[in-house]
Amino acid sequence: MTPLSWNRLPKVTPNATYALTQRGAGVPDRLPRPLLAHGNGRSYGDVCLTEHGTLLLTRGLDRFIEFDPERGILRCEAGATLADVLALTVPQGWFLPCTPGTRWATVGGAVANDVHGKNHHVAGSFGHHVRHLTLWRSDGSVIHCGPSDPGGWFAATVGGLGLTGLIQQVELQLMPIHNPWLNMASWRFTNLDAFWPLNREAEANWPYTVAWIDCLARGSAQGRGILMAGQHAPAQARLPNFKESRKRMPIDPPFSLVNGISLRAFNALYYRQPTHPAGTLSHYVPFFYPLDAIQHWNRIYGRRGFYQYQCVIPPEAAESATAELLNAIARRRQGSFLAVLKTFGHAPAAGMLSFARPGTTLALDFPNRGRATQSLLADLDTIVSQAGGALYPAKDARMPAALFQSGFPQWEAFSEFIDPGFSSRFWQRVTP
Ligand SMILES: Cc1cc2nc3c(=O)[nH]c(=O)nc-3n(C[C@H](O)[C@H](O)[C@H](O)COP(=O)(O)OP(=O)(O)OC[C@H]3O[C@@H](n4cnc5c(N)ncnc54)[C@H](O)[C@@H]3O)c2cc1C
Repeated sequence: MTPLSWNRLPKVTPNATYALTQRGAGVPDRLPRPLLAHGNGRSYGDVCLTEHGTLLLTRGLDRFIEFDPERGILRCEAGATLADVLALTVPQGWFLPCTPGTRWATVGGAVANDVHGKNHHVAGSFGHHVRHLTLWRSDGSVIHCGPSDPGGWFAATVGGLGLTGLIQQVELQLMPIHNPWLNMASWRFTNLDAFWPLNREAEANWPYTVAWIDCLARGSAQGRGILMAGQHAPAQARLPNFKESRKRMPIDPPFSLVNGISLRAFNALYYRQPTHPAGTLSHYVPFFYPLDAIQHWNRIYGRRGFYQYQCVIPPEAAESATAELLNAIARRRQGSFLAVLKTFGHAPAAGMLSFARPGTTLALDFPNRGRATQSLLADLDTIVSQAGGALYPAKDARMPAALFQSGFPQWEAFSEFIDPGFSSRFWQRVTP
């Protein structure tokens, strides 16, 4: 089956696919070029796709090489998933210091997109916790690099969108935990104006924060939502049992089940869910990975797929541009069902093309309704561009080249590090 990305867009077929295995990480010379690594296809869009050449499927490269349970240092192959890592390390008291909202991403994919989590304001992005990388280049050479690499290979490969070569192994510094549970709290806020001070207070007190917003709400309720915060639970004698509930989207409907009516109903219900201002316990699985509970949830958008739109707006423009973005969405009545708002911290970026940077990030999903959706997204682009913001390549299937280049001013310097035998549909789309 042709590998796809998570939003099922664009539908492009490479000339070949080649499954890498633990037994020989070698890449045969005969494969059509350009090459591109494909982890678990949890990106939305075409950073993990090519329509020419060969997709190198990395899931078979999933060996743990070494784990030091005293210091929490793990060396593994890049095709191991974050779920594989957690299954090994959580029982031994170690957790990923940064995790995205799915544990089905691979370690290589997490490095190549320099992914961020709910704790960016205190812990930075994934690349900040990588101690060492092994990078295979298409001329057969292997580069070993770490954060203090003077040659620039590390900074180019972290967030390097898979273009500097194939990441074979990654050494990670994990963080200690006492158990798999978190103390979490949640609060309802009535509109966007109420979100900002609540969020500032939560960030000052909690390492994990994120907000869901109802982007169909208008007028004085615009930007209403739920803010969630959490921290790893201290050692304690009694903890509840946890059994993961896993459901499956049983059908693959030809059309999107997300429409004006279902969205309005979902948003109203979600907004009224019970909150926990006084705190409660949550296991790490539902806390970090609520969407992983429904296998194939991306099918609810139908076979035409959907667009994810994730932007970051610099701090000085964040409040006004976020309100403008919500206005534009509500005006067009194309509200998103997963609308997530979070502020990033001030850590300098780990990679030359890292997306996470000081500012506020808003992530939205829209069913693909063809021209109507394209036109809405173009309006959102104008707001992001005027505010000096950027879009996340990991969540993109259509951003204009000019917006990529203004949002990632180091793209030309980065180009020097691209492996001449590698490319992606994304890169071909956003650069000359
Ligand atoms: C439900 C859900 C929630 C998410 N939440 C977040 C979030 O909170 N924060 C966030 O930042 N992202 C988030 N994402 C996006 C996801 O974490 C990233 O797109 C991640 O990179 C996907 O990893 P993957 O292994 O599936 O890689 P793929 O999607 O297959 O590939 C991603 C990129 O990595 C490159 N790559 C993969 N493996 C290698 C390798 N071995 N060597 C070199 N390059 C490689 C590919 O070429 C491509 O450029 C989410 C995605 C989903 C589906």
